[in-house]
Formats: sequence, structure tokens, C-alpha cells
Amino acid sequence: MNTSHVRRIVIAGGGTAGWMAAAALSRTLGRVASVTLIESKQIGTVGVGESTIPPLALFNRLMKIPEAEFMRETQATFKLGIEFHNWKEDGDVYFHSFGETGKDHWSAGFQHFWLHGQQNGHTQSFDDYCYELVAAYERRFSAHPDHRMSYAYQLDATRYAGYLRKLAEEEGTTRVEGKIAKVDLNPETGHIASLSLEDGQTVEGDLFIDCTGFRALLIEGALHAGFDDWTHWLPCDRAIAVQTTSDGPPVPYTKAIAHDAGWQWRIPLQHRTGNGLVYCSAYLDQDAAEERLMGNLPGETITKPNFLRFTTGVRRKQWFRNCIAVGLSGGFMEPLESTSIHLIQRNILRLIRMLPAGEISDRDIAEFNDQAMEDMVQIRDFLILHYKATDRRDSPFWRQCAAMEIPDSLDQKIELFRETGRVFRRHEELFAESSWLQVMMGQGIMPKSYHPIAAKLDKRELDVFLRTIRERIQHEVSRLPLHEEFVKEYCGAE
Ligand code: FAD
Repeated sequence: MNTSHVRRIVIAGGGTAGWMAAAALSRTLGRVASVTLIESKQIGTVGVGESTIPPLALFNRLMKIPEAEFMRETQATFKLGIEFHNWKEDGDVYFHSFGETGKDHWSAGFQHFWLHGQQNGHTQSFDDYCYELVAAYERRFSAHPDHRMSYAYQLDATRYAGYLRKLAEEEGTTRVEGKIAKVDLNPETGHIASLSLEDGQTVEGDLFIDCTGFRALLIEGALHAGFDDWTHWLPCDRAIAVQTTSDGPPVPYTKAIAHDAGWQWRIPLQHRTGNGLVYCSAYLDQDAAEERLMGNLPGETITKPNFLRFTTGVRRKQWFRNCIAVGLSGGFMEPLESTSIHLIQRNILRLIRMLPAGEISDRDIAEFNDQAMEDMVQIRDFLILHYKATDRRDSPFWRQCAAMEIPDSLDQKIELFRETGRVFRRHEELFAESSWLQVMMGQGIMPKSYHPIAAKLDKRELDVFLRTIRERIQHEVSRLPLHEEFVKEYCGAE
């Protein structure tokens, strides 16, 4: 496609991806292009995807969604990070928070000063210097701007899609119920011309957004854009999800509990808890996985188990001809760091930026694909870190993870940190230095040295520097309400 006018956008699929795309595109491009979404009640959605990361707040702001209403509608809680159990070794716990740790000097990150402290008799944990992390463990939270917390949400995925549907339809999106039976290609250009539904309807368009989930009906089924399999780095390929009643007030964080062939999630919402077991089918069969999950649940089950299969990897081209993959159709990298909804948001916002007045160039497509691939590769490396950097050797799964070859990009990051204590964020990488530090140290990688500037502080200066940060955090956290009380008041819940 050299140039073409985009006046009719057709979204295939109405899960979280489809309705996020419909809501955002109709709100921002409503006058430029019509938006039609086709979904099939008969097929349904994947039904998971409840833990998010902070940029979702930006998406909601762009959509002019009032936060309290969003929280009420999706029965959401606030999330300050993820607590990882049994990852470094069985029984070990660490926390990856959305906050920054300590206070950086212009020449060196805080970790260098903390490491200098450790060599000089300080015993306080690195965690004590992170506001969001300390607050999470004390179950305290506030969304008030004065409290300056970095946070995300834990939400009910089905309610979120329903809420976005309402917004999208208000903004002019046309919803078509039906099952897509055939993708009709233009024989000359190879572009998608229309989608034919089982009931005989035909929906024509200029640009098609594939939100059909793992089926990838358009981008792969019809256009064969290709798929890079990353299972050799991220070997989990199955999940079982089940919802339970709450077992107490919701904590402001998600739990990721490793087991001998994968891990289990626990996501507390206002009205229930989302649970699931992610595992590698080469080492655990479905019956054993189900038994393990059902034997490790915090409350009473309220749904039947939802069995899911996936192949970790990425669609080689997220934008191919006149079709863009958004959501699971574009690839999936397991939910360990809750990055999928974020990738949906990235592709939607990228598309909006690259769809000015209707003309699309091949250079836009190439740029889009490069940027999307960079996002995926950076997240991939961060996820692999959790599996590779472990002392666990207690099962064939963990022995395989510890022995695997990792991408050079990740190896460079780990070894630089191990040798020098330094870590750098490149380009627009999603996970900043603070995330890498918390996870690298949480997984047991400790630097052999630190920046010499840290040693310039004498003992007294260092004591004051470190104590001041800890005391400030303690003071700020003590002023926060309990998370459950804040949620109740904020949402006006009973
Ligand atoms: P789906 O929800 O599968 O929607 C596909 C849509 O396409 C449906 O409406 C379906 O009806 C429609 N469709 C398909 N075929 C046809 C057809 N022939 N005709 C008409 N319609 C059709 N993400 C996070 O950010 N955080 C998490 O904590 C998280 N946890 C996850 C856990 C697991 C085990 C898995 C597998 C995923 C998780 N994700 C998570 C990812 C998240 O669930 C998805 O990114 C998100 O739900 C978007 O899915 P989707 O809309 O692309 O696909």
C-alpha cells in the first residue's frame, strides 16, 4: 500500500483489545473515519487480564474517563506492584513496585549509595527506601495528587470491556453481532476488502484492526504475517484461571507465586479475587495443574476453571497491508508483569499518531512495526530475567530456565549490573531503572562494585543521607489511609 484513504475502520473482535481500540479510535478519529466493531457472543472473550501497569491511567485520561467511575464500574482496586514468592528460591519473597527507590545523585543511581551503606554496617533493606513498596506492605494507599503515588489497577476484565463498549457506542462506534466466516481479499492488492459473517452480512472497510485474540483470524489466518516463537525463552504455555470470593480486604498488589513448573497469580478486586496457574505443559499435565490450583485458593470458587493454551511469541508484522494486530492477535508473552493490556494501548496510540488525515504510507507501516517490535523485545528481556536469574534447581523446569541461553541484550544488562551496579533505560523502555534494580536484586543478582562517588560520603554523611530518606518515607506512608478504606470512600461503595 503506497497511499490510501482510511475512512472506514473495521475492528474484528470485542474483547479488551477490541473495545479499547473502538473507544479510543472513535473518540479521537470519530470525525475522520467511521468505526465498526464485529464480535461474536457465541465465541466470547479470553476472560482474563486483570492486573495492569501505571500507563493505563494515561489511557483512561485520554479517554476522559473519571477515575472513581472507572473504579466503580470495573470493581477495581489500586495496584502498587507485584509480590514475587519463591522465584529466587523456594520460600523467598521480593517486591517489584511501581515506585522509585531512594534518591538519585546526578552522577549515580541510589543503589550505589545503598551498596556503600551495606559495606559500612547498614542493614536496612533496599525496599525500605521505596515509598510505594513500603505503602504496599502496610496496605496504605491514596490516589490524591498530593500523595504522588505511582500506581495501576486490578480490574474485572469483563466489566472493563463492557464499560468501554458503552463509551465507544456513545462516541459513534457501530457494533455488529455475528461470527466472521470469511476474510475477503482484494485479488489485486492482497488487502482485506471485507469480512463476511456467517449470517450473510458483509462488512467492508479501508483499515482492519485484528482483535480476534489468539485466533488472529485476519493478520495470520488471512494474511499470514508470520510468528516468532519465543517459547525457548519463556517456556510456560498453559494457564488455568478461576475466580474466588475475597478472603479479606483487598491488598494493593498482585501476587506471583512460583511453583516447580511455572507460577500462580492472585489478583484482589473489590468484589472477588482473580486466580490462575501458569505452567509449562512439558513438565506438568493439565489434571495435576488443576489440582494444584484448586488446592491453593484463597476463598470459595465462584466460576468453573477456564483452561487456556498459548504460544509465547510475537507476530512478525503487527501492521501488514491494511490490517493491524491489537491484543492477543499480535502476540503474547505470558502475564507475569501484566504487560498485555499495555501493549494493546501502545498499538492503539501508535496507530492514532500515524493516521493523520487519512493517508498512510509504507514508511508509517515500517516505523510502526519497528516500534512495536522494540516494545515487545524489551518486555521479553525483562520477563526472561525472572526465569533465568534464579537459584532454584529443584525441578527440571527451573533447571531448564537456569541453563538456557538468553538474548545478548539481556546478558549485557545483567552483566553490566553484576560488575558495576549500573543499569540504564534505553529509548522509551517501559520498565525503568528502578524496575530492573528491584527485580535483579530480588532474583539474587548483587553487584560486585559500585560507583566511587558513593564512597565520597563519610560515615556521618551517609548515615544522614540514608536515614533522611527512610524517615521521609515512613512519615509519608503514615499519612495515607488504608487501601480498602480509600477504595470504599473513593468509589462511594457501601
Ligand atoms: P479476546 O479476549 O480473546 O477477544 C477476542 C474477540 O474476538 C472476542 O470478542 C471474540 O468473540 C472475537 N472473535 C474471535 N473470532 C471471531 C469470529 N470468527 N467472529 C467474530 N468475532 C470473533 N493482560 C494483562 O494486561 N494483565 C494480566 O494480568 C493478564 N493476564 C492474563 C492471563 C492469561 C492466562 C492470559 C492468556 C492473558 C492474560 N492477559 C493479561 C492478556 C489479556 O487477557 C489480553 O491482552 C486481553 O484480554 C485482550 O484480549 P483480546 O481482546 O486480544 O482477545
